[in-house]
Amino acid sequence: MRRLSGIALILFVLSFAQNCREAEAVSESPFDKEAQSYFIDYLKIDTSNPPGNETTGAEFLRAILAKEGIDAKLVGPDAARKSVWARLESGSSKPALLLMHHIDVVPVAEKEWSVAPFSGEKANGYIWGRGALDIKSLGIAHLMAIIDIKRRGVPLDRDIVFLGVADEETGGKAGVQALLERQPELFKGVGFVLNEGGANITVVDRIESWGIEVDQKVPLWLRLTAKGEGGHAAMPPPDGGATRKLIEAASAVSAIPMRTELHPSVETFFKSIAPTKPGKRGQVLSDPRRHIGTPQIAELPYGLQLLLRDTLVLTRLEAGTSTNAVPDIATADVDIRLLPGSDPSDLIRQVKQVVGSLAEVEVLLSGPTAPASPVDTELYTALEKVLRSAAPKSKVGPMVSAGTTDSRYFRRRGIVAYGFSPFKVNYYDGATVHGSDERIRIRFFLEGVALTRQIVSSFCARKAA
Ligand SMILES: [Zn+2]
Repeated sequence: MRRLSGIALILFVLSFAQNCREAEAVSESPFDKEAQSYFIDYLKIDTSNPPGNETTGAEFLRAILAKEGIDAKLVGPDAARKSVWARLESGSSKPALLLMHHIDVVPVAEKEWSVAPFSGEKANGYIWGRGALDIKSLGIAHLMAIIDIKRRGVPLDRDIVFLGVADEETGGKAGVQALLERQPELFKGVGFVLNEGGANITVVDRIESWGIEVDQKVPLWLRLTAKGEGGHAAMPPPDGGATRKLIEAASAVSAIPMRTELHPSVETFFKSIAPTKPGKRGQVLSDPRRHIGTPQIAELPYGLQLLLRDTLVLTRLEAGTSTNAVPDIATADVDIRLLPGSDPSDLIRQVKQVVGSLAEVEVLLSGPTAPASPVDTELYTALEKVLRSAAPKSKVGPMVSAGTTDSRYFRRRGIVAYGFSPFKVNYYDGATVHGSDERIRIRFFLEGVALTRQIVSSFCARKAA
């Protein structure tokens, strides 16, 4: 709340007051209570990555599924970093639906929080805790959807696979990547994935538009390591040592010009949201090709501008232990996000070229490059139908994300993967993702759980003949 502007604060207070009134009026069903209680218990499990320790979260979900008679398994090569997997069989060979979320969360700066970040505290109409928005809420929505199908004995038209994975937050190597490479049988027949991602525009308590993420920028994380002669700072090495080399290398990398381009997925996304934006913004979005490279692009929200160019930023610098000692090693991490569909090897080559002999360049994470998921699919149509009936005046459109999720591993394999959030989130709450005081409005959480049940059931249940 510290970071709220005046207007945001007024809106917050208004919608907060409204929420309190409505919270009193809403009676929660036993199913809602169950969902909330599982969610709170899930938030209490500290799965900060690094190190992850996702096995505790995986075991928590496995035990709930087992209680429902769903045979879930802990999977993955690392005993401390297990994922949890279950499959509801349909007997049909139609492409299966995979419901996926990640068990890990990003670490917390506890001092910045006004509640204990792993308490799952319920207060003021919210549930608070790391993972409340990213992304344990989605995990519980998926969990409750398959529990609902199982309890009601719904005959299925296609298999449903539930997967809670380890290690999304640091790139997925120990999570979904390992599973896809080593245990491909877990994904047999999967044709569709619903995963985190997507962005909905929520105005007070109404969804204006549902953004279904079909494509994303390509991550490239690099580490520059400079080495030099260490020793007493009163006798510095003539070349300035590791730190000077690192600064020169990092400056050269920062100066690499970033490419600007309009990717077809971004063009489709901009055109689909243009009608929701009045004035100049709407004009630019409705015809981005005409405006690219012109000052009008600055009319767009910064987040959208970033979808038109590669970005590069230094995120971590490390060197030295004391003021009067010259370190013999210095490192800088660089986070690069390339336009969708880009091949990272070009930029890796460029970085190595400008760095020359100043530092070694190590690739921490690269790609993979993946095509966008198409929108002319059965799943997209099913989503559109359910979302439009849940919020009749809302718009549904494909979107592109500047961030990264595990969806890219599936898209690369030609499997349709959509980033979709079933939740309403006000922008001031959305800003708590990866920050402090992460929280979700209880009412929005429960609505999202109900919506997910509806989506899964409408896409997977056998239709009456
Ligand atoms: Zn996430």
